[in-house]
Amino acid sequence: MLRKAIERSLLFQGVNPDLLLETLSRCPMQAIAKGEILIQPGKKNEFVFFLVMGTLTIHIDQLNTPPIRIVTPGETVGELSLIGSTKTSAWVLGGDHCEVIVINQETLWYLINQATQIARNLLKIISGWIVSGNQKTIVAQKQIEELEGIARVDGLTGVYNRRSFDEAFQRLFSRCQLDGTPISLIIIDADRFKNYNDTHGHQAGDHALIALGRVITETIRPGDFAARYGGEEFAVILPETATADAVKVAERMRISVMNRRISLPDGKPLPGLTISLGVGSNHQGSTLQHLLKEADDQLYQAKQGGRNRVSYRGVQPEETTA
Ligand code: GH3
Ligand code: MG
Ligand code: MG
Repeated sequence: MLRKAIERSLLFQGVNPDLLLETLSRCPMQAIAKGEILIQPGKKNEFVFFLVMGTLTIHIDQLNTPPIRIVTPGETVGELSLIGSTKTSAWVLGGDHCEVIVINQETLWYLINQATQIARNLLKIISGWIVSGNQKTIVAQKQIEELEGIARVDGLTGVYNRRSFDEAFQRLFSRCQLDGTPISLIIIDADRFKNYNDTHGHQAGDHALIALGRVITETIRPGDFAARYGGEEFAVILPETATADAVKVAERMRISVMNRRISLPDGKPLPGLTISLGVGSNHQGSTLQHLLKEADDQLYQAKQGGRNRVSYRGVQPEETTA
């Protein structure tokens, strides 16, 4: 039953079913009586409810109005609870033979950290509400703004966004300074990406960026932090890592990106991509701004040196062979 619901789920689409089965089977399962209130406008809701069996109904404004939507197994309600200050604006009631799995915020964030695909799915679901007329009222304009402000991940690539990067960078930099351990930063920029878009289309460019985000997250270790820094730029923070090791990671990334096959969702292959990378590390007395500037200057050097290469302080980028 749970497996069936997972297979149908939009939120969990593309996520390893073993991870889901293991995690969700540890969450409480609850039967909801017909008409019982699960979510109420104006009241804080702290859970995401994953419908495994039966139905739920969603009502706007008044309880006794016909439902604006009937929720079926595999669907979730309460996703906005992830956004701390957001109050719910619809009623959700138990329908026929309803059983839900109650997922608390900690568990959902655990799943998101294990599978960033969930974050992408979540944004898709939420942006679906925003564009679909009949549910517009569920996500009021204010909530959309909150969502954009509070979101921790980038909607396109599923990696952390710039806002998360800024927070993590401050936190990790201070920690390494305090501990007296090294810290490195890699800034990554897709080469001639404007040209890629112009030649193959913006949709192709988007898929190339999704692939690039994946390669980056696949290359790093669990303690590292990867984020989309801006348009076609990504940044990776490597705590407790000095230049030499950061350069090795950067070089591994460069090679993996070069060898990565990219395709559109329909399978149509797209041309490959290359990246340039600048590595910076902390030195005696350096600040966070110094580190950022060093990585940025090195990225500039890598571009000047001919692109598709890694550059770091004291070293002129060499001709790189494919
Ligand atoms: P360089 O090698 O010097 O970095 O050249 P470039 O063309 O990559 O650099 P430039 O800054 O001129 O262009 C960046 C391009 O990245 C332009 C912009 O349209 C594209 N871009 C930024 N964000 C996105 C996005 O989300 N999707 C797509 N498809 N393209 C994007
Ligand atoms: Mg750029
Ligand atoms: Mg670029």
